[in-house]
Amino acid sequence: MKVLVVVDMQNDFIDGALGTKEAEQIVSKVQQKIETYRKQNDIVIFTRDTHFENYLETQEGKNLPVKHCIKDSFGWQISSKLDVADSTIIDKPVFGSLELAECVSKIENVSEIQLVGLCTDICVISNAFILKSKFPETLISVDSSCCAGVSPESHNRALESMKTCQIMIH
Ligand SMILES: [Zn+2]
Repeated sequence: MKVLVVVDMQNDFIDGALGTKEAEQIVSKVQQKIETYRKQNDIVIFTRDTHFENYLETQEGKNLPVKHCIKDSFGWQISSKLDVADSTIIDKPVFGSLELAECVSKIENVSEIQLVGLCTDICVISNAFILKSKFPETLISVDSSCCAGVSPESHNRALESMKTCQIMIH
């Protein structure tokens, strides 16, 4: 059984408050990947960056004073180009989600956990490290063609860091 974690593919990170053209370019590839996993009866889990009206007073907001992914707003929603179907969606107020690791630990016979989504250098890398720590004997991988970073440079740096920590980069 393989698990695909689709990280924060939300409007605000694609073409909203914190969007990039690199993020726009991966949307259809991520959808193809989701379809492939579903066809093979593998599991797809989504995460959703989730903030509230007090965002600017939080630590993240003080360091990144751009309101984004405010719960129930359009920018918070996962792109309508992606098929969420009946997948589990984990709302997370932080970069890396311990709840995600908990959710994966309930799935039996996991041979690989692959991460795709946004942003490579913030939430993809944070969750990859958490999963690597929680499941040291499971293959953790990232498909770089289905990820985008805050900038192309930081995307590449994050891939290098993950590779160093034995996360397989495709
Ligand atoms: Zn955020």
